[in-house]
Amino acid sequence: MKNVDIAPLDLSLVNTLGIDIGGTKIAGARVSDTGEVLAWETRPTTPEDPEGIVSAIAELVTALDNGDCRPVLGVAVAAFLNRDRDSIFLSPNIAWPQFRLKDELEKRLGRGVVLENDANAAGWGEFQFGAARDATSMITLTIGTGVGGAIVDDGRLIMGGFGVAGELGHLIVEPNGHLCGCGNRGCLEQYASGTALMREARQELGNPALTQDELSDLLEHGDARALKALNRIGQALGRGIASLVAVVDPELIVIGGGVAKAGEALLEPIRSGFHATYAPASQRPVASIVVATLGNTAGVVGAADLARAASEHA
Ligand SMILES: [Zn+2]
Repeated sequence: MKNVDIAPLDLSLVNTLGIDIGGTKIAGARVSDTGEVLAWETRPTTPEDPEGIVSAIAELVTALDNGDCRPVLGVAVAAFLNRDRDSIFLSPNIAWPQFRLKDELEKRLGRGVVLENDANAAGWGEFQFGAARDATSMITLTIGTGVGGAIVDDGRLIMGGFGVAGELGHLIVEPNGHLCGCGNRGCLEQYASGTALMREARQELGNPALTQDELSDLLEHGDARALKALNRIGQALGRGIASLVAVVDPELIVIGGGVAKAGEALLEPIRSGFHATYAPASQRPVASIVVATLGNTAGVVGAADLARAASEHA
């Protein structure tokens, strides 16, 4: 019988492909073992059509693999994954409950697939190659439409008993607060996400039609009302971080996602909210809070590295 298996440790295969399935687009990259993005392409997401997503990923793989990639694919997806990392419990953006994404992709592509939650993959990217590359424990908060989280302790991504650890956006910070997409009230992401920032800024500026671009512009020009809204988001994040530090005690807190582009204007209120809430801060060493460095490539870089590691331990 002919053996068609490709040796996972073929030394000519020096790069790995990473895919990041988001709410509006799918990004793919060829990533080196040092976390460098060598090629990058995107396709639109078809949220109501899992088969369409599988096809788009197949297209990206064909476009990106120039023959020096390992026979594995890392895939980050905005969804709750099961502990075995082969199917999706629930995704807020993509209509495919219980879809066996790993099997479908492996069948279609003829290569191994390593699935990870998108915020975990982005956090892992920052841990290996970005802002936390010198740390052994960290928390990443990815501030986009929602708030994603990842926890790494002693060099390991924390999965939890059911595979959904690190859903830090659903830390409850305001009992009986705003209703969240998860069904609870008062989740951190209702107070500290890009969506929350828009809500606060529209209210502050008295302009319910304010767009994201207009807000970015105002923040860039140091508009006092826009900064006040950003300050509120930062303070809420800082309070949330105080609870996270009490549980996890990381060396570093990395703030990523679109809102993190505000840089120090966001970090300053985060630190102030944190230190105002975290009472014992003066009596023990405590995490520094920094901005992520990989930008929107963190997810593909992290996914590729998780796939590389899995192929080497296969
Ligand atoms: Zn929630």
